[in-house]
Amino acid sequence: MLIDFHTHSNASDGALPPVELVRRAKGLGLQALAITDHDTLAGWREASKTPVEGITLVPGVELSCRWGGATIHVVGLGVDGDNPRLAALLLQLDRLRRDRAAKIAAKLDKLGMPGAIEGAQLLAGDGPICRPHFAHWLVSQGYVETVGKAFDKWLGDGKPGDSKTQWPQLDESVSAITAAGGVATLAHPLKYRFTRSKLRALCSDFTTAGGSGIEIVNGRQSTVDITNLKRLSQEMGLAVSVGSDFHRDWVYGAELGVDTDIAGGLPTVWEMLL
Ligand code: AMP
Ligand code: MN
Ligand code: MN
Ligand code: MN
Repeated sequence: MLIDFHTHSNASDGALPPVELVRRAKGLGLQALAITDHDTLAGWREASKTPVEGITLVPGVELSCRWGGATIHVVGLGVDGDNPRLAALLLQLDRLRRDRAAKIAAKLDKLGMPGAIEGAQLLAGDGPICRPHFAHWLVSQGYVETVGKAFDKWLGDGKPGDSKTQWPQLDESVSAITAAGGVATLAHPLKYRFTRSKLRALCSDFTTAGGSGIEIVNGRQSTVDITNLKRLSQEMGLAVSVGSDFHRDWVYGAELGVDTDIAGGLPTVWEMLL
C-alpha cells in the first residue's frame, strides 16, 4: 500500500492547492494522504471540502516547537480540527510567525533588500509566512540564484536574515495534539543533526509528553538511515510513520507516496489511524 503522512500544500510553503495535492496522490495510487502544513490545518480543511473517491484524507499539521535551544517539528495526525486547545496553539503560532516575518523583513531591509514583507506575503497568500516564501522572493528579485542559496546566504539558522523564534515548548505542542485526539509523530529525526544520545533524549522527552510516532522515512533517505531509524523506533517504543515531505514538483524533493512495506512488521501510526 502507498501512503503519505507528511506533505505540504500552498496553505503553507507547498506549491499545490490542497485539492490538487489530493488528486496528484490519488493519481499516483496512494490509498491515504495527510496534508501536514506548517502550523495550520487550513490545507487539510480546504481539501476535506472536496472529497476525492478512493483515497483517505487524514487531518494533519506540522507544528514548530522548541526543545532546549533547538527547533523541532512534530506532525499531528488524525486531530480533531475543532479542538479549542489545538486552535489556541495554532493562533499563538500564527502570531509568532507574523512577528518573525516582520523581523526577517526588517533585517533584509537593513541589508539592502527592501520590500520583503510584501513579497513574502504575496507568495504566502492567506497562510503563514514561511522562510521559503522569503527565499522565493529573494530569487524573484535576483538577489540570489536559487532557493537553496537564499538559505545558505541569508535565511538559514544563524544567517544574517534569520530571526530566532520562541516556538511553543515541545511538550505543550505534543499534548495539544493528543488533547485533540491526534497521534503526535516526531518529524524528520535526522534533520536536527543531533548526536545519537541527544536524539534519544529528544525521543524520551517526546514520549513522556505523549508522543507516539516517529518518521522512519522523510523524503529521500538512504537505506542505512531508514534501518537506524527503525532501530531507534524499537528502542524508544515509538510507532513508525512515513512521508515524502513533498512541497513542490522539483528535482531535489521526493515525489508523493511511500510503500508501507518499509515498516517490516513494526507497529505503525497508520494502523492507529486508518
Ligand atoms: P520555517 O518553518 O518558516 O522556518 O521554514 C522551514 C521550511 O523551510 C522547511 O519546512 C523547508 O521547507 C524549508 N527549508 C529549510 N531549509 C531549507 C534549505 N536549506 N533549502 C530549501 N528549503 C529549506
Ligand atoms: Mn516546509
Ligand atoms: Mn519540517
Ligand atoms: Mn514538512
